Amino acid sequence: MTAIDGRELLQQFASDNYAGICPEAWSAMAAANEGHVTSYGDDPWTDRASNEFRELFEAECEVFLVFNGTAANSLALASLCQSYHGVICGESAHVETDECGAPEFFSNGSKLLVAHSADGKLTPASIRELATKRQDIHYPKPRVVTLTQSTEMGRVYSLAELRAIADECKAHGLYLHMDGARFANAVASLGCSPAEVSWKSGVDVLCFGGTKNGMAVGEAVLFFDRKLAADFDYRCKQAGQLASKMRFLAAPWVGLLESGAWLRNATHANLCARHFEKQIEGIAGVQLAGPVEANAVFLAAAEPVLEALRKRGWRFYTFIGGAARFMFAWDTDLGRVDELCRDLRECAERDGLPG
Ligand SMILES: *Cc1c(COP(=O)(O)O)cnc(C)c1O
Repeated sequence: MTAIDGRELLQQFASDNYAGICPEAWSAMAAANEGHVTSYGDDPWTDRASNEFRELFEAECEVFLVFNGTAANSLALASLCQSYHGVICGESAHVETDECGAPEFFSNGSKLLVAHSADGKLTPASIRELATKRQDIHYPKPRVVTLTQSTEMGRVYSLAELRAIADECKAHGLYLHMDGARFANAVASLGCSPAEVSWKSGVDVLCFGGTKNGMAVGEAVLFFDRKLAADFDYRCKQAGQLASKMRFLAAPWVGLLESGAWLRNATHANLCARHFEKQIEGIAGVQLAGPVEANAVFLAAAEPVLEALRKRGWRFYTFIGGAARFMFAWDTDLGRVDELCRDLRECAERDGLPG
């Protein structure tokens, strides 16, 4: 633990993007900081990162590196749509709730068609309902389904669920896009190959998140059908997402992918979520608000308990489904998780019980 301006920088679990840069990404950045290389992606680091993705995914995919997830998702969706098209998503999808209208903006108006779902997951039935709801010219024409893996609620789609969704997409002529801001956590959770969790399950375009996986900035957009990537480079440039010193977006990916840190980081984060879950069991007045399948834990507890926890300095968000969300990052210290559990137990015992 270090301090800045006298404030201790204790780990918090409000978001997995509170964490810093992992050593593998950091050292690759340092290695890339040697000499002069050509700009705008025409450099050895970008080639190396792109080839690492192709090897990892066992596919000759087209690879684009952008600065963040909002851009990755919005530009990927825009590339699959005309302005009169519709994009089917779940009601808790990041594209719907946390991107400030960027998918609609970058697609010049393609409308998000929101499926209601209790646990944030899309199903073939919910997709069918929206895809067949209207056939007339007055309603936006459904064109793409976007799902998040792992989801905003910390759930993971099984391969069977993904394939059933992909079949439904095919039946209605819909492309399948995956928001993989936490793709690594899903792969770690499923124990399957990245190919199985993406193109082998019918995903056309994947946004693979680097930021929450241990990078400073950066997401990769992978097109498994190369034709769909036509002119995507122009789209990135127009949107201000073409890095001139691209090597510094590419190098951390090289560091993560070549060392295997991408999967180790996610595996550790998931393990910490499980560790937290196990310790929560048995605290009276605190319940899991949903199953733990990746690196998120959602808790239901009375407001005085949560308030007491905040007073002890803990940060967490409650805007998703009303539950308190705890996210575990690549660098989570299990000792700090134990401190959180201890405080939560004390708060529940003192502040949660009647009398
Ligand atoms: C974090 C996150 C993103 C990316 O968000 P940015 O802040 O734009 O980088 C995208 N989708 C999901 C589900 C996320 O959690």
